[in-house]
Amino acid sequence: MPEGDTIYHLAHRLDQALTGQVLTAAELRVPAHATADLTGRRVLGTVPRGKHLLTRFEGGVTLHTHLRMDGRWELFRPGERWRGGPAFQVRALLGTERATAVGYRLPVVQLLRTAEEHRAVGHLGPDLLGPGWDAAEARRRLLAAPQRPIGSALLDQRNLAGIGNVYAVELSFLAGVTPWTPVADLPDLDRLLERARQLLEANRLRPGHITTGDTRPGCGHWVYGRTRRDCVRCGTPIRTARHDQGRVAHWCPRCQRGPAPTE
Ligand SMILES: [Zn+2]
Repeated sequence: MPEGDTIYHLAHRLDQALTGQVLTAAELRVPAHATADLTGRRVLGTVPRGKHLLTRFEGGVTLHTHLRMDGRWELFRPGERWRGGPAFQVRALLGTERATAVGYRLPVVQLLRTAEEHRAVGHLGPDLLGPGWDAAEARRRLLAAPQRPIGSALLDQRNLAGIGNVYAVELSFLAGVTPWTPVADLPDLDRLLERARQLLEANRLRPGHITTGDTRPGCGHWVYGRTRRDCVRCGTPIRTARHDQGRVAHWCPRCQRGPAPTE
């Protein structure tokens, strides 16, 4: 599942490729919208909302897509060979004279009125990379379930939008607590939210979800993905276990206080 910064970057690329262009080809290969015809409409823009993408067209129409685990949008130049998967996996296609955007394996392809975008994204908490980021509201939502483990609470897009598993795991390390620590026991929730915003901002136009500031290969994370390696801060072997809905968590038993699964 991509993180919010990945979706921000993707929205930026779709926006640059399509905005201002008139659609010369458009297909939505999902039963609900198979007959919808967007051809001839101008693309007004693509914006990210958490991990959701909203592509807006002339005439007050929005295409809402979400990648979940396996979906992707690819951009191709005219005549370029498509390479994002077999043709039967194409769920959406937006073509202009300059570029074709092809959505593969998209689990969410929904056409709705632009005025009703809230139906698609209204449930989301404050958007870490959105224009209206509201740390106080994110804090309020998180503390509404004070006993919930912080790793799981950060992943719940209704609390705040944009955090995926890499950041949930890394932010726990940076806060000095395990991902199973109840939200109420966080020493400084405001600091954690500030860090979340800073990290996503810093990474929004580059790959890798760098949390250490070190962009060298293998050095970008404190604990995430560092199975059986030593903590770069204290040298203790990093531990690994499942947390929220089976996602993999990594943590340093010395640098991070709080509950953790026993082996
Ligand atoms: Zn450590």
